[in-house]
Order: sequence, then structure tokens, then C-alpha cells
Amino acid sequence: MHSIALQELGINAVYLPFLISEDQLPHLLDAFYLTRVQGFNITLPFKEKIIPFLDTLSEEAKMLQSVNTVKKTEEGWKGYNTDGSGFIRSLAANDISVTGKKVLIIGAGGAAKSIAISIAMVGASEIIILNRSRDKADVLAAMISQISSSTPVSTSTPRAHKIDITINATSVGMKDDSSPLSDDLIKRSEQIIDIIYNPAQTTLLKQAAALSIPRMNGLDMLLYQGVEAFEIWTDRKAPVELMRKSLMASVYPC
Ligand code: NAP
Repeated sequence: MHSIALQELGINAVYLPFLISEDQLPHLLDAFYLTRVQGFNITLPFKEKIIPFLDTLSEEAKMLQSVNTVKKTEEGWKGYNTDGSGFIRSLAANDISVTGKKVLIIGAGGAAKSIAISIAMVGASEIIILNRSRDKADVLAAMISQISSSTPVSTSTPRAHKIDITINATSVGMKDDSSPLSDDLIKRSEQIIDIIYNPAQTTLLKQAAALSIPRMNGLDMLLYQGVEAFEIWTDRKAPVELMRKSLMASVYPC
């Protein structure tokens, strides 16, 4: 989606994948500097490990201690994290607002952390985090309380009432057909978001469809974290629809 967007905007650049190993990390930025790379994405398992090699961090990356986008700037290599802002932008593109809403997040890994912090920052009225390893949910809840003291956060199953938005931020359903949510929690959710994008219809989303609960998968989150990265690198507005088409063709080839 990036190369086609660069081409559309007449920018003489390409986006290429590089497979790197941990021992290459210290040399990566020198290699990129010499080859005039202007920016790059970095993904698992190096989102935290790249930080010592960068010169500055955006506020969001500093808060998360996780970087997925790097740009060459006058101050050197600057790290950003577009996962949370991309997620919020994907909601806006689908007319979903979390402001004033009670949000249940399943998971407490990297994606859940970005999402929970962004949701707290845009004014969710309450956040509940449920995770297989409860201690990780507690750590994330404490982090959110520190960042946004006005947002109530809890880590135990909510009592029987409605949940405005439920988000699956675990990998459950990605490689198997299990669902991360009990029937009760599904039924109590007004809206269900599964950030998994492949398969497009997870078991959770199929359960939501059977109950006519509005739902969304993670493709737009993937799209918009890329859109945000593109805009950071180029200081130009990204051709979103073109990027979406390209992304869909590669994620869901016929
Ligand atoms: P991660 O840091 O490894 O976290 C994985 C999370 O899933 C943890 O909360 C983990 O619980 C939970 N989990 C894993 N297996 C489980 C199981 N069998 N039962 C219950 N919980 C389980 O991974 P991540 O980066 O946050 O990614 C999570 C998912 O989000 C992945 O499917 C990934 O593809 C997707 N994702 C999508 C986008 C997008 O753009 N749409 C972006 C990022 C991630 P424990 O803490 O107990 O291990």
C-alpha cells in the first residue's frame, strides 16, 4: 500500500521489506543512513528493542515504550507509534466514537496497550481490561490510571449490564476458530471490534453477526496505522482509498 501511494503522489521512493536479526539492529540505522532511507516501519519483535538506537521519540512512543514507525529528521532518527492513533482513526472512518463510552478490552499485550491508552486519551467513560494473565491486565490498568486519572479502569469481569464497545486485542481466533469471549459478554456488547484482520471473519465476528451486533475487523486499523506512518514520512495527505484497495488485494487475494 505504501509503494502505490508514493507513486500516486509522484514521490520517487519505494517501500521494501527487510528481514533482520537482533544482532543486526545496532548496524541498521547506519546502513539506512548510508543508503538514504528516509523512514521505515519496524515490527515484532523489535518494537521496543529499536528504542536505544533512536535519537528522539514522539510523546506516544515515549509513553508506550514501543515504536512502529521511524523517520529521519533534522534531530536524527525519530520513533513514533501509530498503532493507537491508527486504531482511533479507523473507528472514526467507521463512524464509531469511544468518547463517553464504556469499553471492554480483551488482552493486555502490545496492541491492547496502544488501544487502551488511546481510548483513555480520547475520553472513554470507563475501561475494563480482561486478560488470560491477570497480572498483565493489572499492570496495564495502573498505567492507564497514571496517564488518565479521570478514567475508571478495572480488570475483572463486569457485572451484568451493557458494554458499549468490546474489543478483542488478543490473538485468539487468528490461527484457530476459538472465540475469546463468553456468550454472555458477547450478548451484552453493543458493538464488537476484533483487531484480527486475517481471517476477515473470526469466530467472534461470526457470533456477533448471528446476534446482529454491529461489528468490525482489524483491517482498517492496519490501514490507518499505515496511513499515519505515510503522513509522518511524507508530510502529505495519504491517498487512503488507493491504499485500502492495495492492502485488501494483498491481505485477501482471490
Ligand atoms: P502480544 O503482545 O503477543 O499479546 C497477545 C495477547 O493475546 C495477550 O494479551 C495474550 O494473553 C493473549 N492471548 C494469546 N493467546 C491466548 C489464548 N490462547 N487465550 C487467551 N489469551 C491469549 O500480541 P499483540 O501484538 O498485542 O497482537 C495481538 C493480536 O492483535 C494479534 O492477533 C495481532 O495480529 C493483532 N494485531 C492487529 C493489528 C491491526 O493493525 N489490525 C495490529 C496489532 C496487532 P497473555 O498476556 O495471557 O499471554
